[in-house]
Amino acid sequence: MSDKINVRGVWFDSLTVDETLDLLCENLQGGKQTAVCTPNAEIVQACIDDASLFPVINSADVIVADGIGVVKAARILGTPVKEKVAGVTVGEKLFERLAGSEYGFYFLGGKPGVAEQASERMQEKYPGLKVAGCHDGYFEKTGDESDRIVAEINESGAQILYVCLGAPIQEKWIYANRANLNAKLMLGLGGSLDVYAGNVRRAPKIFISLGLEWFYRLLKEPKRIGRMMKLPKFYFGTWLYKLRGCK
Ligand code: UDP
Repeated sequence: MSDKINVRGVWFDSLTVDETLDLLCENLQGGKQTAVCTPNAEIVQACIDDASLFPVINSADVIVADGIGVVKAARILGTPVKEKVAGVTVGEKLFERLAGSEYGFYFLGGKPGVAEQASERMQEKYPGLKVAGCHDGYFEKTGDESDRIVAEINESGAQILYVCLGAPIQEKWIYANRANLNAKLMLGLGGSLDVYAGNVRRAPKIFISLGLEWFYRLLKEPKRIGRMMKLPKFYFGTWLYKLRGCK
């Protein structure tokens, strides 16, 4: 267990990437069902704008700061987290750690064919990686169709489930279905399958080290501007929050 840090109502774990992986592998080996959420500043702001999201996000067992916005906010509030822990990085490092082991993965999400492409590419890169099944992310998120997918995931025998439907759809889906899922580890990983499939590139290292990965994504996908308008609101809101004496 790590200490929990409250950033504007979301309870983050202060962990490094390696500590996150250690914890997830330990829980997996111990058979403890663990839901992982990797919110960025957009998602924390989405919770602030719609408080019904807080219990959904905070119900995850492990919550790590996927973005420089959350890392900065935690620092502004005087309760820093150890580092940024990008979901896409955790997802890939789990392949590295678990390739050749008994554990199988299931990829849920992305446009038709993307999960299969990600599976092929990652199995080539990490020999021995077991992918027990794949399904695209374009289905009714509640009701019969969703229930059928839960059954398919269970039948696949996968112990690790990547739910890549974008936030907060994926967190809501995990929250609603985790009790019926046999997988031990379930992670909401946004657009990670697109990256593993080779369809989307992560920002060059220089952007990441300067804390400008969000800017690179905006350059590549200008249509994200609407969503990213939450970032300044979150940043200045955090200062106001601090000045008003709330932590
Ligand atoms: N997506 C999906 N089902 C949906 C909506 C979106 O599978 O109903 C996928 C979409 O194809 C993309 C991912 O969810 O692969 C969202 O990617 P994005 O980078 O926007 O995620 P973020 O991590 O920023 O939430």
